Amino acid sequence: MLTPDAALAEILRRVDPRGVVETAPLAEASGRVLALDAVSDVDVPPFEKSAMDGFAVRSADFSARKGPVALRRIGEARAGVPYGGTIGAGECAEIATGSEIPRGADAVVMIEKSRAEGDRVALDDDPRPGQNVCHRGEDLRLGETVLERGRRLSPVELSVLAAVGCEPVPVFARPKLALFATGDELVRPTEKPGPGEIREGNTFYLAARAEAAGADVRRREAAADDEATLERAFRDAFESADVVMTTGGVSMGRYDLVGAVLARCGVEPVFHKVAIKPGKPLWFGMRGRVPVFALPGNPVSCLIGFEVFVRPALARMEGAAQLAPPLRRGRWAGAATVANPREQHVPVLVHAGEDGADRLEPIRWRSSADIVGLTRADALAAVAIGRVLAPGDVVEYRPLR
Ligand code: AMP
Ligand code: MG
Repeated sequence: MLTPDAALAEILRRVDPRGVVETAPLAEASGRVLALDAVSDVDVPPFEKSAMDGFAVRSADFSARKGPVALRRIGEARAGVPYGGTIGAGECAEIATGSEIPRGADAVVMIEKSRAEGDRVALDDDPRPGQNVCHRGEDLRLGETVLERGRRLSPVELSVLAAVGCEPVPVFARPKLALFATGDELVRPTEKPGPGEIREGNTFYLAARAEAAGADVRRREAAADDEATLERAFRDAFESADVVMTTGGVSMGRYDLVGAVLARCGVEPVFHKVAIKPGKPLWFGMRGRVPVFALPGNPVSCLIGFEVFVRPALARMEGAAQLAPPLRRGRWAGAATVANPREQHVPVLVHAGEDGADRLEPIRWRSSADIVGLTRADALAAVAIGRVLAPGDVVEYRPLR
């Protein structure tokens, strides 16, 4: 059986970036992946700019000061309305944050250090040249690359792209993901389950996570556990999808038919089963360029399969430089564990520890079917194959929220 690392390597060796470039309005670009380097068409800031409300002054007027210096107030610089004149010796101009520093001035004294005296202002300060001045181009120079292609855009980056005039934004097309559940027992959330039936829930989790991970998700009807229905469902999905993801039907039971049907649909099997707990019966294959992830039906198994294997594959397909957020680290706050031949993913609460390190407390939890238990967890601790954890040991974890 493949280790999770080896399985992920097999997946990433096969999936390739689609590289299709389109544009998105800035206002809708959050979460998208930048397809071209963003280059600034301006200096940022674009001019010598005041960082404070106060008075633009010549620092030389203060060099020999003893006590406040009284300067003649000759004008005003407002944001967007520069003062046109020049500040001479013994003069100053009132200035607002974000306004251009007038000619002749080289520093700003904050308003809190000023007192009006008729047409003069007494300034109780000893400014150095450049005090409270943001210099032209100090954040970014015209022609400089500010964000590189492959960067997933978060709200901060949107504001930067606006500053450099990048609107609309060149982004990679999102991979089209076909998603459906399999199982004779599954009914919709609006239905009352009959004898032996349960409500289908996995695709809601999977769709939301896959959307957040960058995919353009197309959910489809759940398919029954018979070969003809499954084959039809898969063939339909292959018509338009860049990637196919299903849940259920990949265990060892007589009605776990997904693997066999996929092979018949021309999907090259790559692996079935990974040394991971929960989540062992994961089936992965390729149909041409299209990866197919058949995740187990148990809700927690399917969730872990998505996080560990599907998320990085989607990111690679979309062209993102970072395939998944880095795992975090915390201290194990449970009882000593025993070694397991599979990598274990254990639901935990994350507490802020006194020494600044997170403490990971395992929750009471039944099994891979217990999705309700997961609502009480903050994260999944990832315990490596064969590892024995003692209280206080450092272990990696994945936040769930
Ligand atoms: P399977 O992998 O098809 O053998 O299913 C394993 C278990 O997960 C069974 O108890 C199923 O009823 C349950 N299950 C399968 N698919 C879903 C789903 N989409 N939503 C909720 N539970 C499911
Ligand atoms: Mg099933």
